[in-house]
Amino acid sequence: MRLPKLRELKEAVIAVFSPRFTTRFPAEPCVVPDNFRGKPEFDLDSCIGCGACVNVCPTEALTMVDDLQADPPVRKITLRCDTCIFCGHCEENCTTEDGIKLSTTWDLATLDKDSLSETHEFELQLCEKCGAVIGTKKHLLWLYEKLGPKAYANPSLLIAKSNELTMKPEVAAHQPSGENIEAKDFMRILCPKCKCELNIQL
Ligand code: SF4
Ligand code: SF4
Repeated sequence: MRLPKLRELKEAVIAVFSPRFTTRFPAEPCVVPDNFRGKPEFDLDSCIGCGACVNVCPTEALTMVDDLQADPPVRKITLRCDTCIFCGHCEENCTTEDGIKLSTTWDLATLDKDSLSETHEFELQLCEKCGAVIGTKKHLLWLYEKLGPKAYANPSLLIAKSNELTMKPEVAAHQPSGENIEAKDFMRILCPKCKCELNIQL
């Protein structure tokens, strides 16, 4: 039988008299560093439902569906923590920078996978000419605030803000109004395609 090397013996003796390196979890709570990447959490005051985080999620833990049959039409963004790898791309690429952040919550073990899923709904803004999805209403209002005076160059943003203030309730409906472009369409919320046709034809 080979004798243990002296170096290994020395390390073993030191380890016996050293403080332990492991935690006592679950007997005691495990405290993680502040920059720990744990469960992503939405801040629904800051999230505008733009979907940028969905586009960068590498595992499809974030998914997005536009439900046009709902009344009113909504965008549903779902987070499934059982497929999240806590990479932080969603936080890094959030349009508003505060819509989603990785928390320090890490103990997500459960026997019910569905409890790891959450869905948030955002009302959609449809083109008032053709009914195509433009984005969420919150996104348009965020753009209006972000652009400041420059927003006056875009009638759709102005009307979206006016609708929120209920100054122009007659343009609040977003029913498609037919194929023909008319001058009054300048004062409607239009998708890029209809706006382009309007600018070319009139
Ligand atoms: S942390 Fe990464 S995997 Fe998890 S939801 Fe965000 S982007 Fe997707
Ligand atoms: S990128 Fe940010 S603002 Fe946009 S949907 Fe994701 S969390 Fe919300």
